[in-house]
Amino acid sequence: MKVIRRRLVAVAALLMIPVTFEAQARDETIERLRLGSGFEIVIGDRQPDPGGRLLEALAIWVGAKLGQPVPAALPRLVFRPNNQVAALRLKQYASELVQQQGRPSIISIYDARERVIYIEESWTGATAADLSVLVHELVHHFQEAHPTKFECDAAREAKAFELQEKWLRLFGESLEEDFQIDPFTLLVRTSCGM
Ligand SMILES: [Zn+2]
Repeated sequence: MKVIRRRLVAVAALLMIPVTFEAQARDETIERLRLGSGFEIVIGDRQPDPGGRLLEALAIWVGAKLGQPVPAALPRLVFRPNNQVAALRLKQYASELVQQQGRPSIISIYDARERVIYIEESWTGATAADLSVLVHELVHHFQEAHPTKFECDAAREAKAFELQEKWLRLFGESLEEDFQIDPFTLLVRTSCGM
């Protein structure tokens, strides 16, 4: 989408068109998505019940992408102040942190022992990036529910980031754009012994 927007800007600049094209460019981005489960995602809307129907719908999407059945029990979603979530990150079994561009930080952690996704309070679910964080942590929940051997903790991240990226692509966004995770950073974060 970025490329398209840049092209529009370039063409408009060339023709000296007044600035109405930003809205047009925005229309090209998917902002409404009906998942296979029938649940509709509307970008820009806060999620009133993120730990309920939203999480279920995202889990069905993740299951379809992984080719695995949705675990009988989904994780609980627990909101915590930012510093608390960061502290939890140091706990054993807790997986990583993600940071969003242009925001203080959106941190989430999947705690495998408690089967809880801890998420920072400023999360609203109104952006594709916010929702992608849940997609990522749900992959870790699937990894616990359908045990697979991983060479190291970093190797667990490969699938989680892969599906997070797939999710973001649905909305014309990417890990690099939203989380500053470029291909090299991704390689480092998903490779053992790096
Ligand atoms: Zn992860």
